[in-house]
Amino acid sequence: MKKILLIFLSLLLLGLPKSMLAQQKVPILIYHSIDEFKGKGSRELYVTPENFEKQMTYLKNNGYTLLTFERWQDISTVPKPIFITLDDGYKNNLNAFSIFQKLKTESFQPAGTFFVISDFIGRTNRLSKSDLKMLADSGLISIQSHTATHPNLTKEENLKYELKESKEKIQQITGKPVIALAYPLGNTNEHVVAETKKYYSFGLTTTPGPYYKLDNKNENYLLPRIYIKYSTTLDDFAKAVKVD
Ligand SMILES: [Zn+2]
Repeated sequence: MKKILLIFLSLLLLGLPKSMLAQQKVPILIYHSIDEFKGKGSRELYVTPENFEKQMTYLKNNGYTLLTFERWQDISTVPKPIFITLDDGYKNNLNAFSIFQKLKTESFQPAGTFFVISDFIGRTNRLSKSDLKMLADSGLISIQSHTATHPNLTKEENLKYELKESKEKIQQITGKPVIALAYPLGNTNEHVVAETKKYYSFGLTTTPGPYYKLDNKNENYLLPRIYIKYSTTLDDFAKAVKVD
Protein backbone atom coordinates (compact mmCIF):
# COMPACT_ATOMS: atom_id res chain seq x y z
CA MET A 1 0.00 0.00 0.00
CA LYS A 2 2.79 2.34 1.01
CA LYS A 3 4.63 1.51 -2.19
CA ILE A 4 1.63 2.34 -4.34
CA LEU A 5 1.27 5.66 -2.57
CA LEU A 6 4.94 6.45 -3.23
CA ILE A 7 4.61 5.61 -6.92
CA PHE A 8 1.49 7.73 -7.09
CA LEU A 9 3.27 10.67 -5.44
CA SER A 10 6.30 10.38 -7.76
CA LEU A 11 4.06 10.35 -10.79
CA LEU A 12 2.23 13.38 -9.47
CA LEU A 13 5.51 15.28 -8.95
CA LEU A 14 6.86 14.30 -12.37
CA GLY A 15 3.67 15.51 -13.94
CA LEU A 16 3.94 18.99 -12.43
CA PRO A 17 5.47 21.66 -14.61
CA LYS A 18 9.01 22.55 -13.57
CA SER A 19 8.04 26.12 -12.81
CA MET A 20 5.66 25.00 -10.10
CA LEU A 21 8.34 23.05 -8.27
CA ALA A 22 11.19 25.49 -8.69
CA GLN A 23 11.32 28.38 -6.30
CA GLN A 24 10.04 31.47 -8.02
CA LYS A 25 12.82 33.81 -9.03
CA VAL A 26 12.08 37.47 -9.79
CA PRO A 27 14.85 39.82 -11.00
CA ILE A 28 14.63 43.43 -9.83
CA LEU A 29 17.09 45.45 -11.91
CA ILE A 30 18.73 48.68 -10.76
CA TYR A 31 19.90 51.45 -13.06
CA HIS A 32 20.95 55.07 -12.45
CA SER A 33 21.72 57.23 -15.51
CA ILE A 34 20.50 56.29 -18.97
CA ASP A 35 22.84 58.43 -21.04
CA GLU A 36 26.16 58.56 -22.84
CA PHE A 37 29.02 58.75 -20.34
CA LYS A 38 30.70 62.13 -20.73
CA GLY A 39 33.36 61.75 -18.06
CA LYS A 40 31.40 63.03 -15.06
CA GLY A 41 30.90 60.71 -12.08
CA SER A 42 31.23 56.94 -12.14
CA ARG A 43 31.05 55.32 -15.57
CA GLU A 44 29.47 52.14 -14.18
CA LEU A 45 26.42 54.13 -13.02
CA TYR A 46 25.62 54.88 -16.67
CA VAL A 47 23.95 52.69 -19.26
CA THR A 48 23.85 54.14 -22.76
CA PRO A 49 20.40 54.61 -24.33
CA GLU A 50 21.52 52.21 -27.06
CA ASN A 51 22.30 49.44 -24.56
CA PHE A 52 19.17 50.14 -22.53
CA GLU A 53 17.09 49.76 -25.67
CA LYS A 54 18.81 46.47 -26.54
CA GLN A 55 18.18 45.18 -23.01
CA MET A 56 14.49 46.14 -23.03
CA THR A 57 14.12 44.66 -26.51
CA TYR A 58 15.61 41.43 -25.16
CA LEU A 59 12.93 41.36 -22.44
CA LYS A 60 10.25 42.09 -25.03
CA ASN A 61 11.42 39.34 -27.39
CA ASN A 62 11.79 36.80 -24.62
CA GLY A 63 8.35 37.05 -23.08
CA TYR A 64 9.05 38.98 -19.88
CA THR A 65 6.34 40.87 -18.03
CA LEU A 66 7.55 44.25 -16.77
CA LEU A 67 5.92 45.13 -13.47
CA THR A 68 5.83 47.98 -10.98
CA PHE A 69 5.27 47.52 -7.25
CA GLU A 70 1.56 48.31 -7.47
CA ARG A 71 1.30 44.94 -9.24
CA TRP A 72 3.47 42.96 -6.81
CA GLN A 73 0.78 40.32 -6.28
CA ASP A 74 0.94 39.52 -10.01
CA ILE A 75 4.42 37.95 -9.73
CA SER A 76 2.85 34.55 -9.18
CA THR A 77 0.49 34.76 -12.16
CA VAL A 78 2.21 36.58 -15.07
CA PRO A 79 4.91 35.01 -17.28
CA LYS A 80 8.54 35.87 -16.40
CA PRO A 81 7.93 38.84 -14.08
CA ILE A 82 10.70 41.44 -13.82
CA PHE A 83 11.05 44.89 -12.25
CA ILE A 84 13.04 47.74 -13.83
CA THR A 85 14.10 50.38 -11.30
CA LEU A 86 16.06 53.61 -11.80
CA ASP A 87 17.48 55.43 -8.77
CA ASP A 88 18.23 59.11 -8.08
CA GLY A 89 15.74 60.78 -10.44
CA TYR A 90 18.16 62.01 -13.10
CA LYS A 91 16.77 64.06 -15.99
CA ASN A 92 18.35 61.54 -18.37
CA ASN A 93 15.85 58.94 -17.15
CA LEU A 94 13.57 60.54 -19.74
CA ASN A 95 15.66 58.56 -22.25
CA ALA A 96 14.40 55.35 -20.62
CA PHE A 97 10.86 56.64 -20.90
CA SER A 98 11.27 57.41 -24.63
CA ILE A 99 12.59 53.89 -25.20
CA PHE A 100 9.60 52.45 -23.33
CA GLN A 101 7.25 54.48 -25.56
CA LYS A 102 9.07 53.27 -28.65
CA LEU A 103 8.86 49.58 -27.64
CA LYS A 104 5.26 49.66 -26.46
CA THR A 105 2.87 47.52 -28.48
CA GLU A 106 -0.50 45.99 -27.78
CA SER A 107 1.13 42.83 -26.44
CA PHE A 108 4.16 44.42 -24.76
CA GLN A 109 3.55 46.98 -22.04
CA PRO A 110 6.83 48.43 -20.72
CA ALA A 111 6.86 49.51 -17.07
CA GLY A 112 9.45 50.88 -14.72
CA THR A 113 9.90 52.54 -11.34
CA PHE A 114 11.80 55.80 -10.86
CA PHE A 115 13.01 56.30 -7.28
CA VAL A 116 13.38 60.06 -6.84
CA ILE A 117 14.99 62.13 -4.09
CA SER A 118 12.22 64.55 -3.13
CA ASP A 119 14.42 67.54 -2.16
CA PHE A 120 16.34 67.25 -5.44
CA ILE A 121 13.28 67.46 -7.71
CA GLY A 122 13.73 70.29 -10.23
CA ARG A 123 17.51 70.65 -9.90
CA THR A 124 19.25 71.14 -13.26
CA ASN A 125 20.19 67.51 -13.85
CA ARG A 126 17.13 66.02 -12.15
CA LEU A 127 13.53 65.43 -13.18
CA SER A 128 11.19 68.36 -12.59
CA LYS A 129 7.71 68.35 -11.07
CA SER A 130 6.13 68.50 -14.51
CA ASP A 131 8.36 65.65 -15.75
CA LEU A 132 7.21 63.52 -12.82
CA LYS A 133 3.56 64.32 -13.36
CA MET A 134 3.85 63.53 -17.08
CA LEU A 135 5.68 60.23 -16.37
CA ALA A 136 3.15 59.14 -13.75
CA ASP A 137 0.24 60.03 -16.05
CA SER A 138 1.77 58.00 -18.91
CA GLY A 139 0.98 54.75 -17.11
CA LEU A 140 4.45 53.44 -18.01
CA ILE A 141 6.37 54.81 -15.03
CA SER A 142 5.69 54.59 -11.31
CA ILE A 143 7.29 57.37 -9.27
CA GLN A 144 8.45 56.19 -5.84
CA SER A 145 10.67 57.49 -3.03
CA HIS A 146 14.43 57.44 -2.60
CA THR A 147 14.08 59.63 0.56
CA ALA A 148 14.20 63.43 0.84
CA THR A 149 17.97 64.07 0.89
CA HIS A 150 19.66 60.71 0.14
CA PRO A 151 21.27 60.15 3.56
CA ASN A 152 22.56 56.93 5.05
CA LEU A 153 19.32 56.02 6.83
CA THR A 154 21.11 53.85 9.40
CA LYS A 155 22.80 57.03 10.68
CA GLU A 156 19.95 59.47 10.09
CA GLU A 157 18.10 61.04 13.03
CA ASN A 158 15.19 62.59 11.18
CA LEU A 159 13.72 59.45 9.64
CA LYS A 160 10.25 60.95 9.67
CA TYR A 161 11.33 63.69 7.26
CA GLU A 162 13.19 61.27 5.00
CA LEU A 163 10.42 58.67 4.89
CA LYS A 164 7.09 60.38 5.51
CA GLU A 165 7.69 63.87 4.09
CA SER A 166 9.32 62.53 0.91
CA LYS A 167 6.39 60.18 0.35
CA GLU A 168 3.85 62.97 0.82
CA LYS A 169 5.71 65.41 -1.41
CA ILE A 170 5.93 62.93 -4.29
CA GLN A 171 2.29 61.90 -3.90
CA GLN A 172 1.29 65.54 -4.07
CA ILE A 173 3.15 65.94 -7.38
CA THR A 174 1.96 62.76 -9.08
CA GLY A 175 -1.43 62.31 -7.46
CA LYS A 176 -0.60 58.61 -7.13
CA PRO A 177 0.25 56.48 -4.08
CA VAL A 178 3.90 56.11 -3.05
CA ILE A 179 4.28 52.59 -1.66
CA ALA A 180 7.96 51.72 -2.22
CA LEU A 181 11.20 53.12 -0.81
CA ALA A 182 14.70 52.55 -2.18
CA TYR A 183 17.20 52.90 0.69
CA PRO A 184 20.02 55.28 -0.35
CA LEU A 185 23.14 53.23 -1.08
CA GLY A 186 21.10 50.22 -0.02
CA ASN A 187 21.75 50.97 3.66
CA THR A 188 19.17 49.69 6.10
CA ASN A 189 18.84 47.94 9.43
CA GLU A 190 16.11 46.67 11.75
CA HIS A 191 15.20 50.13 13.00
CA VAL A 192 15.04 51.61 9.49
CA VAL A 193 12.87 48.70 8.33
CA ALA A 194 10.52 49.21 11.29
CA GLU A 195 10.16 52.92 10.44
CA THR A 196 9.79 52.21 6.71
CA LYS A 197 6.94 49.81 7.47
CA LYS A 198 4.92 52.69 8.89
CA TYR A 199 4.66 54.40 5.50
CA TYR A 200 5.59 51.89 2.77
CA SER A 201 4.75 48.38 1.59
CA PHE A 202 8.18 47.73 0.03
CA GLY A 203 11.83 48.55 0.79
CA LEU A 204 14.58 48.01 -1.78
CA THR A 205 18.22 47.34 -0.99
CA THR A 206 21.20 46.92 -3.30
CA THR A 207 21.93 43.41 -2.04
CA PRO A 208 22.77 41.60 -5.27
CA GLY A 209 20.74 38.76 -6.72
CA PRO A 210 17.18 37.97 -7.72
CA TYR A 211 14.23 37.89 -5.33
CA TYR A 212 12.97 34.49 -4.22
CA LYS A 213 9.64 34.24 -2.50
CA LEU A 214 10.37 32.66 0.86
CA ASP A 215 7.68 34.24 3.00
CA ASN A 216 10.31 35.39 5.47
CA LYS A 217 9.46 38.14 7.92
CA ASN A 218 10.19 41.56 6.40
CA GLU A 219 11.26 40.12 3.06
CA ASN A 220 9.33 42.85 1.21
CA TYR A 221 11.48 45.43 3.05
CA LEU A 222 14.76 43.76 2.12
CA LEU A 223 14.26 43.28 -1.60
CA PRO A 224 17.53 42.57 -3.44
CA ARG A 225 18.44 44.20 -6.76
CA ILE A 226 20.67 43.32 -9.69
CA TYR A 227 22.99 46.10 -10.91
CA ILE A 228 23.03 46.71 -14.64
CA LYS A 229 26.20 48.63 -15.45
CA TYR A 230 27.94 50.44 -18.28
CA SER A 231 30.09 47.37 -18.84
CA THR A 232 27.16 44.88 -18.80
CA THR A 233 27.07 43.10 -22.17
CA LEU A 234 23.84 41.75 -23.65
CA ASP A 235 25.12 38.26 -22.78
CA ASP A 236 25.65 39.27 -19.14
CA PHE A 237 22.21 40.84 -19.18
CA ALA A 238 20.57 37.66 -20.48
CA LYS A 239 22.23 35.69 -17.67
CA ALA A 240 21.23 38.24 -15.04
CA VAL A 241 17.55 38.11 -15.96
CA LYS A 242 17.38 34.34 -16.47
CA VAL A 243 14.47 32.95 -14.48
CA ASP A 244 14.36 29.29 -15.41
ZN1 LIG B 1 20.77 56.67 -4.77
